[in-house]
Amino acid sequence: MNVETLLRKNIKTIRAYSSARDEYKDASADMVFLDANESPFKSNVNRYPDPQQTRVKERLAEIKGVSTSQILLGNGSDEVLDLLFRAFCEPNIDNVITLPPTYGMYSVLAELNSVELIKIPLNADFEPNVDDILKSQNKSSKLLFICSPNNPTANSFDADKIEKLIKAFNGIVVIDEAYIDFSRGESWLSRLDEFPNLIITQTLSKAYGLAGIRLGICFASEFIISVLNKIKPPYNINQLTQDKALERLRNLDEVRNEIKLLLLERENLEEALAAISYIKEIYKSDANFLLVKVDDADQRYRQLIQKGIVVRNRTKEPLCENCLRLTIGTPSENRNLVNALTEIE
Ligand SMILES: *Cc1c(COP(=O)(O)O)cnc(C)c1O
Repeated sequence: MNVETLLRKNIKTIRAYSSARDEYKDASADMVFLDANESPFKSNVNRYPDPQQTRVKERLAEIKGVSTSQILLGNGSDEVLDLLFRAFCEPNIDNVITLPPTYGMYSVLAELNSVELIKIPLNADFEPNVDDILKSQNKSSKLLFICSPNNPTANSFDADKIEKLIKAFNGIVVIDEAYIDFSRGESWLSRLDEFPNLIITQTLSKAYGLAGIRLGICFASEFIISVLNKIKPPYNINQLTQDKALERLRNLDEVRNEIKLLLLERENLEEALAAISYIKEIYKSDANFLLVKVDDADQRYRQLIQKGIVVRNRTKEPLCENCLRLTIGTPSENRNLVNALTEIE
């Protein structure tokens, strides 16, 4: 597959804005910097941040086993996803495919970018309908969004099905791995080099505990990353975010311990919920949340609010009738949840 032919026409020839920090890179050098109209009065943020986030990428490359040239960082995964639309989808001509019920941003971004959305629902086991997906694609199908582990169904998709899709889809396959750190399954990162049309997104918002700093990660071939680099806003990752991310990425033990605790809590919560009579089903989870089917989701949602607990009501999503999505909290938060659920029985 030649990925270059999938790009939008204007993107093929576009030239990146060249910022001051692109033209003279070594901001740590002992030089007098009078090139960017910054304030000279020192604070930790009076200078523009590194537009290539070199130090954060170096640490990520080390942790994830990829090269820094295979990484692009965004202001949350949401910015990364938006860049993909802008790189590959010609408005009012191209289309993208999603597999509902899934993460809501794919359809929001399709609409925002005037790109047709083809929805191929998951089957009753919350797995992709591979044949239907491949039958629905046409020569204008540019992106296929596979969220695995999937939000809100919590499961990882069958690896053979995903592989089939990567091989047979004639556009870019985007695997959203926002919840990969909570999964029994392996990341597709180890196979990135095999597939030129594969893009993997991850984020520091969930397992890394940094939703507030907005840092999304895109892994792809050097070619795709070079294209995205040309169209991203030059200083899209601010200095405070880069500093905080680096600090956290240097403390992986802390991250791993938190993940371990959440996985243990997920197991405990599953067990406790099984004893509640109006909970009809607890779906298998590879994420930091549980999807549960109850007798009446609207009523249970309201009752929980009255007890001071906010969960996500997903009853309007396809295949999720009467389903609530429960994020795994701290041990005491989870105890509160179980107590409240028991009291309204
Ligand atoms: C939470 C979530 C994200 C994270 O998005 P950010 O913009 O990085 O915070 C991405 N994808 C899915 C499926 C999610 O549930």
